[in-house]
Amino acid sequence: MSRASLSSLLKKTFGYSTFRPLQEEIIADALAGEDVFALLPTGGGKSLCFQLPALVREGLTVVISPLIALMKDQVDGLQASGVPATFLNSTLSVEETKLRYRGLYRGEYKLLYIAPERLMLPGFVDRLPELNVQQVAVDEAHCISEWGHDFRPEYRQLAELRPHLPGVPYMALTATATMRVREDIVNLLQLKEARCYTASFNRPNLTYRIIPKEKPSEQVLKWIKSRPEECGIVYCQSRKTTEAVAEKLRSGGVAAMPYHAGLDPAVRERTQNEFLRDKIRVVCATVAFGMGVHKPNVRFVVHFDLPKNIEGYYQETGRAGRDGLPGECILLFSSADAIKQRAFIEEKTDPEEQRISREQLQQMIHYAESGDCRRASLLDYFGETFSTIPCGGCDNCLEPRERFDGTMAAQKFLSCIFRLRQASRFGVGLNHVIEVITGAATEKIKRWGHDQLSTYGIGKEHSRSEWQEIGRELIRMGYCLQTAERMSTLDLSSEGMAWLKARQPLTLTRPLRTHGRALRQRIEGDIVCDERLFAELRTLRRTLADERNVPPYIIFPDVTLRHLAARQPASLEEFAEIPGVGERKLNDFGAAFLAAVVSWKARR
Ligand code: ADP
Ligand code: ZN
Repeated sequence: MSRASLSSLLKKTFGYSTFRPLQEEIIADALAGEDVFALLPTGGGKSLCFQLPALVREGLTVVISPLIALMKDQVDGLQASGVPATFLNSTLSVEETKLRYRGLYRGEYKLLYIAPERLMLPGFVDRLPELNVQQVAVDEAHCISEWGHDFRPEYRQLAELRPHLPGVPYMALTATATMRVREDIVNLLQLKEARCYTASFNRPNLTYRIIPKEKPSEQVLKWIKSRPEECGIVYCQSRKTTEAVAEKLRSGGVAAMPYHAGLDPAVRERTQNEFLRDKIRVVCATVAFGMGVHKPNVRFVVHFDLPKNIEGYYQETGRAGRDGLPGECILLFSSADAIKQRAFIEEKTDPEEQRISREQLQQMIHYAESGDCRRASLLDYFGETFSTIPCGGCDNCLEPRERFDGTMAAQKFLSCIFRLRQASRFGVGLNHVIEVITGAATEKIKRWGHDQLSTYGIGKEHSRSEWQEIGRELIRMGYCLQTAERMSTLDLSSEGMAWLKARQPLTLTRPLRTHGRALRQRIEGDIVCDERLFAELRTLRRTLADERNVPPYIIFPDVTLRHLAARQPASLEEFAEIPGVGERKLNDFGAAFLAAVVSWKARR
């Protein structure tokens, strides 16, 4: 199929006029019958990579998805665009299931969404050859790997699928994959010479901010109230906190609900559904509220507590701005939280697990305290270099932190570690170093004779907490090393040693301070439009969605409504040009939305 005809199919069916990065390449490979591995960030448009080829091909595309709760919405979305799709799962009645089977054997569908355990049922998998399957797409493919954070044992069964479908090309899709997970996916799915397409994990429409955590519930309430139209997620560490924060938000007039694994499944499902349908504005959740969040218009993700690791934090923030419109990611941070997290880790029993958790926590703390570009730090964690700094979308780039000449402080701090090492054969921790520098008279200092060192009491010009900050920055800069043991000790690195000898000037960063300003800047992805018209269009969309019992974004995503409110088309021809308006939706909803725009213009 030519590029031009693929593009016109994209516009006709989904209403988009351009492909997102790598979509076109992935689709071309799939149509050529190749196995493909697609690593695109959340919101990168993975679904389209198998949906569009499914339309072009004869026969059926089987989409394997772990999320039963989501299948209906995905299929509703396809049907709204006029694509014959269906799903099979345990929520269907026997009658309905029979009906769908019949449709499948008659070749009435282009796509079938199904969970792996259902697909692998002997009665089903044996009859697959009768269904004219032409493509298998494994969504959330990282679920197959024990090394990933969402391992699902039922995904393992997929390793047995290939022989049942000889010659059928596979597509594996995921937004997470460390090297190890990637290898697992390729091996277990037996991908054949699959080309691996990796898009940048940068999310240009997201802003990252760290805020000093003071009175967190009040801070969050105030912050959310200043965004009265927006939906978002507040991630909390414990079940209890999710409930307390939701209560606090409700008392402040924000429609919020808690979500955690301890709640009744029916309650959880209702919360998720009402969130999808814009009836609940905020979900206060533990990390149990995860992959299933396919709501495209999540406008903010707040981390109420310090996440355990950067990978989880990145995935969670990634749930904002799936639709490409701006999303804000806020992390409330205090060093007390870091200490609490460390205490949790000490309760673990497996020493290897403890070591890994400590290391991950340390990286997370470094990220939170650092004065460097957040985007660059995140991407660096995933092995990607981001060099367009200032990025325009993080606190450190937008309001650079105050810097100061730290040459003297670093010299005192590093030489104190050096002297301590010389004096004792054992290592000491950050707190002890600081006690020596500030000349504290602790029992240990006396017992070990550290009050005899030349560096004892040389740093009284800074408070202990200032030294903490200085010390942690020197660790981040790599001048000293902190072990990930239970009693972590400090040591000079070779860089630290070299610096002590050369004593080049050194700049340090002042820690985060709270300021009243709630800066909001225009970020990439924003579509400037008349907000009042946008609100009216949303009301209309809500009515249409409720009539059909589907989430509003299935009618049109926010992006489409914002474009409509900006361009204000006067005819159906102009309406058809709006992104997200395909043929089917133009027919079904064009007149209603056009009338709303026209009437709004007449009233002005
Ligand atoms: P992912 O599964 O990678 O997180 P989705 O497939 O859910 O992403 O797509 C995210 C959003 O992007 C959806 O609202 C989808 O309609 C939209 N989208 C996908 N491809 C395009 C495109 N080429 N142009 C504009 N929007 C797109
Ligand atoms: Zn930045």
